[in-house]
Amino acid sequence: MQLPIYMDHHATTPVDQRVVDAMLPYLCEKFGNVASTHCFGQEVKDGCLNARTDVANLIGATANEIVFTSGATESNNTALKGVAEGNQHKGKHLISCVTEHRSVLDTLSYLEGRGFEVTLLPVDSDGKVTVQQVKEAIRQGAEGSTDRTTLVTLMGANNEIGTIHPIEEVGTMLKDMDIVFHVDGAQAAGKVPFDVKKFHVDLLSISGHKIYGPKGIGALYIRDRAVEQMNLGPLLHGGSQEGGLRAGTLPVHLVVGLGKAAQLCSGDHLLEENDRLFQLRETLYNGIKKVANVSINGHPTDRLPGNLNLTFHDIDSELLGIGLKGIAFSSTSACSSSSAKPSHVLTSIGCTDTQALSSARFGLGRRNTLKEVEYVVERVAQTVRKFAKVAG
Ligand code: PMP
Repeated sequence: MQLPIYMDHHATTPVDQRVVDAMLPYLCEKFGNVASTHCFGQEVKDGCLNARTDVANLIGATANEIVFTSGATESNNTALKGVAEGNQHKGKHLISCVTEHRSVLDTLSYLEGRGFEVTLLPVDSDGKVTVQQVKEAIRQGAEGSTDRTTLVTLMGANNEIGTIHPIEEVGTMLKDMDIVFHVDGAQAAGKVPFDVKKFHVDLLSISGHKIYGPKGIGALYIRDRAVEQMNLGPLLHGGSQEGGLRAGTLPVHLVVGLGKAAQLCSGDHLLEENDRLFQLRETLYNGIKKVANVSINGHPTDRLPGNLNLTFHDIDSELLGIGLKGIAFSSTSACSSSSAKPSHVLTSIGCTDTQALSSARFGLGRRNTLKEVEYVVERVAQTVRKFAKVAG
C-alpha cells in the first residue's frame, strides 16, 4: 500500500491528467488574449466556447448563462453582494442557513454591516433545512425595507457533513416570487445530478478544484442571463469581459481545464463514479463501525456519496490524527482548520464541542480504491486499540 493516502476530496481534488492534457496547449502555443481580433486571439476562442458549453451541460444550462470567475468564493460574493445591493430599493432582507460555507456567511455578515438583515435558518440533526422553514422566513412587507426578502441562498451540499438540501423544492416554491434563489454548488455540481432549470435555480456557484479541475477557476450560472431582471451588478470593475459581469482577461488555460473537468463528471460518468464512491463509503463506514465507537454526522441517505463524517466517542481527533498518520483526512473543514474551534456545522446539528472536536471527515474520490479503504479500517482498528479511552 502506497502512503500517503488522500481521503480529503472535499478540501480539494487532484487535477485529472486528461484535464492537464487539455490545458497544456493553451499555455505556450495558444496563448492569445481571447479579446484580441488577430489570429492569436481567434485561435483561443473555440477553446473558451467549448469549455463554456461543457460547464453549462454539467448543470442543464446553456453556454451564454455561464460567467467564469476565480472560484466559488468569488461566485458567491458576486451573487450575494450583487443581488443584495442591486435590489435594495425593493427590500433588504436575505435568507440563508447556519451551515453555509464561510464564503457565504462572511459575505452575509459584511452585508449586515451595511444595513441588510439576514435570517440564518437552523438545521435539523441531519443538517437539513425544509422548504417550510424557508417559506415561513420570507418577508413581504414594505418596499425597500428589511421587511422584504430579495434573496435566498442555500448550499447544494455541505462540505463537512455532505448533507444535500431540498434545492428543487425550495426553487419550486420560490419560482413565482420576486426573490432571487442562489445556490452555492461548490460541493454539489459535478458530484450529484444537478439541473438548474428543473430545480428553478437563478444563480449557481461552481468551483473547478472540487471536480478535478485546476484551482483559481470557477463559474457563476446566471439564469437566462437575466442580469437586469435580477439587478445583478459586477464585483470587479475594469473591462467588458464576460458581458461586463466579471472584468479581467480570461485565463484561457484554466477555463479550458474547467470545461474538461466538467465534461468528465457529466452524465454517465457521474452516475458510475457515484455508485463506486457509495460502495467504498459503505465499506469504510461498516468497517469502522465494527472497530470503533462512532456515530455518523449528516443525513443518512441525502448526502454526497463520497462523504463520511464520524464522531469518534472514545478517542479525540488529535490522537486519531497521530494513529492515522499517512492518511489525509480532515478533522475540521480545510478552510477553518487553522482555528482549533469546533466546527460550526457540527455544533449546529447538535454535537457538543467535545464531540465536534473528536470528529473526522473522510472525503472519498476518483483515485481511492477498495484496498485503501480496507487499509484505513485496519489502521483505525490499530489506533483504537492503542489510544481509546478505557470506560470508567
Ligand atoms: N463553498 C463551499 C461549499 C466550499 O466547500 C468551498 C471550498 N471549500 C467554497 C465555497 C469555496 O470555493 P473556492 O475554493 O473555489 O473559492
